[in-house]
Amino acid sequence: MDLARYFDNAATTPLDPRVREEMLPYLGADFGNASSIHAFGMSAHAGVERARARLASLIGAEDPSQIVFTSGATESNNWVLRSFSGGLVSPFEHSAVREPAIRLGYGTLANTELTLLPPVERVALLSVMSVNNEIGTQWSATEFRPYAEKLHSDLTQGVGKLPTDLTGLDYASLSAHKFYGPKGVGALYTADDPLPPFLLGGEQEQGLRAGTSNVAAIVGLGAAAAICEDEAEEDRKNAERRRQIVVDLLQTVSDWQINGGPKASPFVLSLCFRGLEGETLVIEADRAGYAISSGAACSSRSTEPSHVLTALGLEPEWRRGTIRISFGRFNEDETTESLAKSLRLSVEKLRTMT
Ligand code: PMP
Repeated sequence: MDLARYFDNAATTPLDPRVREEMLPYLGADFGNASSIHAFGMSAHAGVERARARLASLIGAEDPSQIVFTSGATESNNWVLRSFSGGLVSPFEHSAVREPAIRLGYGTLANTELTLLPPVERVALLSVMSVNNEIGTQWSATEFRPYAEKLHSDLTQGVGKLPTDLTGLDYASLSAHKFYGPKGVGALYTADDPLPPFLLGGEQEQGLRAGTSNVAAIVGLGAAAAICEDEAEEDRKNAERRRQIVVDLLQTVSDWQINGGPKASPFVLSLCFRGLEGETLVIEADRAGYAISSGAACSSRSTEPSHVLTALGLEPEWRRGTIRISFGRFNEDETTESLAKSLRLSVEKLRTMT
């Protein structure tokens, strides 16, 4: 598998080989339980705390103790939403906010196309994601500060890629596998008021999230955060250039548009081609050796139309022809060009067949 041909980085990113190197000792000799007081335990504990400090530095948290490690953004989001009696979430949230919100009786913020409208009354909790995983649009949860006692933001698609601003946020969720760390590990950031414990048991994670620490994964998260702190700027410039390469090469094609608006993250390019099926384009790209997607990976096996594209008000003949190209550290300009050319050919071929 050629990593340069992988354009589905919003679904997950490959583990950076440098992250793997830092994890390896903790899958071997440094196997200790981070809660043990002997040398084995102390070494594991040091790995966990270094990771906490590295993540705090990446996201600009004042103190590493504001970070609790979890199994990922799904857990962090569930934790926050389950801790309040109700509130509002944006209509564009990932299913990891949307599903608990529906189940727990939260309402949905109104929108006009990509613009979120202020609610009519103040609520206990309001949750607005920083970067949408399907269309890349960026929002600032803090615009809604006056309407919420507590504010949460799912930062999963932004952390490690775009600058993080925690100012005004009470809670934030993130996940390591979106910034070249391992899967199954993430974090919840808390500004000051700790939530009630999510898992009761041992004293791990300040007693808030019990369970023996997944040391190697946490160390991987920390290593990935440290690399992003150094390289995110360069990654972002590369993504911007590659996004433009695709857009430029599609200029000769008719009846397509970019979803996500002018505020889209450079890492996510959502396109729709009128009258075509996104899935067909994904399969054609796969045959040509490129990984792209037709939407969120977590719902890509579902036949339901995407709630994000529906909330945007896209007509079905446009909505169905949606694909997502999401850029990452290991793409290359030449591969991006060849992906765009291959996509152009597929669109032209499919259009002559319909
Ligand atoms: N929120 C967003 C915006 C996401 O893109 C994802 C991953 N697709 C998640 C939450 C869930 O993250 P995890 O897989 O770490 O639970």
